[in-house]
Amino acid sequence: MQNSLAYAQQLDREDPLQQFRQEFIIPVHNGQEQIYFLGNSLGLQPKRTARYIDQVLQQWATYGVESFFLGDDPWMHYHDHLVKPLANIVGAKPEEVVVMNQLTVNLHLMMVSFYHPAGKRRKIICEAKAFPSDQYMFETHLKFLGLDPGEVLIEVAPRPGEHNIRLDDIIHTISSTGDELALVLWGGLNYYTGQVFDMSAITHAAHAVGAKCGFDLAHAAGNIALHLHNWNVDFACWCSYKYLNAGPGAIGAAYIHERYHTDPNIRRFAGWWGYDKATRFAMQKGFKPIASAEGWQLSTPSPILYAAHRASLEIFAEAGFDRLRQKGRLLSAYLLYLLDEINARASTPIIEIITPRGDESRGCQVSMLMHQKGREVFEALGKAGIFADWREPNVIRVAAVPLYNRFEEVWRFADSVRRIIFAV
Ligand SMILES: *Cc1c(COP(=O)(O)O)cnc(C)c1O
Repeated sequence: MQNSLAYAQQLDREDPLQQFRQEFIIPVHNGQEQIYFLGNSLGLQPKRTARYIDQVLQQWATYGVESFFLGDDPWMHYHDHLVKPLANIVGAKPEEVVVMNQLTVNLHLMMVSFYHPAGKRRKIICEAKAFPSDQYMFETHLKFLGLDPGEVLIEVAPRPGEHNIRLDDIIHTISSTGDELALVLWGGLNYYTGQVFDMSAITHAAHAVGAKCGFDLAHAAGNIALHLHNWNVDFACWCSYKYLNAGPGAIGAAYIHERYHTDPNIRRFAGWWGYDKATRFAMQKGFKPIASAEGWQLSTPSPILYAAHRASLEIFAEAGFDRLRQKGRLLSAYLLYLLDEINARASTPIIEIITPRGDESRGCQVSMLMHQKGREVFEALGKAGIFADWREPNVIRVAAVPLYNRFEEVWRFADSVRRIIFAV
């Protein structure tokens, strides 16, 4: 690799995915396209999203409620457009994926189905400092069940002086909790450090002691390769507005392993949209679930949100997930290389990378712990139209995503950081 604009532009010319940037609306800052490294927070808007939403609005205008059954795309079957491409992204069978609700809601629903405290088996293992919404979900869900969160939750943290959680420590905690363990509910990729976890190993360890295992994939879906079915994961949920570009407040999704679809003992909170499709409108007493992940749906979904998600999933399918992952790796590898160069010029390290270095242990996000000038760097970048995000106390998170970011942008980012730090 080389630290030069010409080299970065060369990488862009050789990039087989370069044309996908044109599928997105890039926000403008002072008349110039922003350098937008916030795809881990709110993915950019695909140009085709408006058209897909407009089709739904047209259908509504034309057919009213009959739109569920009439028109080019009857709403009753719209969900079918989404599950296949989404199942490819998360490594599931299409019938194991359901597009519904939003992430935190789905986490509560999955707790209903997969957390059954009984006797001494009642502990839950999770990440220390999980995303706040996940923490509030645990706290209130456990209180609702009459349990003490402080007693039930076992948090695994990085060792003192370290930033990442060691797999050995997770596995050891699982096996030593043994038959007191009911559930492992972990993140696929930590939102703060960008650490990717070995979901296969964690699932295996949980099952070995008779516990269930699920993942929050908010930062993993659309970012890293996932093989939920082959890893034998019990359930997972994610949001679709981060790497998946389905828009603010986008409809979320869940994966539920097929072994539970017709399990008569599985508990759930039900609604009419999860009812067997053939007889749903007979409106009979007694809940009869659809024999797939769709059986977990509660309410009538919004075709407008479906349409926005369909637009983004189509782009993923056209680009191909393997190619996306490959470019994502290269983008972050190039960024790490350039940041290392900055540190090498300084007498004391200025930027500590708290994201693991291994190709398989990071996704698109690189987290920079700033030992000097953190806030100053962050604010100067924003003024220059380069947008990353700031996490207290002193971390800048940068996500260069393969669908619309360029190597040139990575170089410009690092070059700006260098100039701000050394005041040149
Ligand atoms: C983004 C994110 C959320 C947000 O949840 P919503 O219900 O979609 O608002 C929750 N958990 C994690 C780990 C996240 O990264």
